[in-house]
Amino acid sequence: SKAKLFDQDQKVKTSFKDVAGLEGAKEEVQEIVDFLKSPDKYTSLGGKIPKGALLVGPPGTGKTLLAKAVAGEANVPFFSLSGSDFVEMFVGVGASRVRDLFKQAQQKSPAIIFIDEIDAIGRARGKNNMTGGNDERENTLNQLLTEMDGFGTDTNVIVLAATNRADVLDKALMRAGRFDRQIYVDLPDIKERAQIFKVHIKPIKIHKDVDIEFLSQQTPGFSGADIANLCNEAALIAARQGKKAVHHQDFLDAVDRIVGGLEKKNKIISPKE
Ligand code: ATP
Repeated sequence: SKAKLFDQDQKVKTSFKDVAGLEGAKEEVQEIVDFLKSPDKYTSLGGKIPKGALLVGPPGTGKTLLAKAVAGEANVPFFSLSGSDFVEMFVGVGASRVRDLFKQAQQKSPAIIFIDEIDAIGRARGKNNMTGGNDERENTLNQLLTEMDGFGTDTNVIVLAATNRADVLDKALMRAGRFDRQIYVDLPDIKERAQIFKVHIKPIKIHKDVDIEFLSQQTPGFSGADIANLCNEAALIAARQGKKAVHHQDFLDAVDRIVGGLEKKNKIISPKE
């Protein structure tokens, strides 16, 4: 089967209300929404609209969701690809694929390009030279930098990239006119977890004994993705038992199951709170 180069979503439905918590990050990306919606307002005084921003934070905290919500709020198409797929799947053609991506986004501009796991292509150059495929990765990275430098500020394509390893990124990526803004997307605190529960409980038929406050207390260290997974797991547990609604106990059973899974994955779990 032919691997997909990148995804495009012309009619993004995701909006800020799908993103629970992350108030600070939402405030910062609101500016990007404004740039996309009315660029003239910003360029009329001679200012340059930023070309890129880096979303930095642990896995599953909503970076992709937030990037998509920016496109949804601005009502512009969303082009996305994952750095890791990119380097693995397109040996020998990474650079030309980057070119295609930017070309298509510019044709549909205003638009958002989202690059998940940018560290897979954006690691500092000159390191890990022993590993094969490094030239390929460097070519891809160089092409990305070329594209970002190449498109004028009048193009109105903004590139958002996500990473949980900002420390390993090539400094060239962070230079002015590239990803010169960093937006932090952290693990949710107890209040934010409650908000995330509320989002993910919406499509589920829950019994009135479900106590979101309590579940939020029981889930320190959980990401938004973990909570989404937990809600789904609880619904499946209840369904398996032939219940008419998902009860509090089903959520607790799902917590146990997921904490068990996380422990296996991380060996130790160190709750933040
Ligand atoms: P990764 O670094 O692993 O790519 P990510 O930070 O991009 O993760 P997402 O892919 O955006 O995380 O999150 C995965 C899913 O988890 C989302 O589609 C959503 O269902 C849920 N989720 C994560 N964070 C939030 C949040 N703040 N509010 C609501 N749902 C969330």
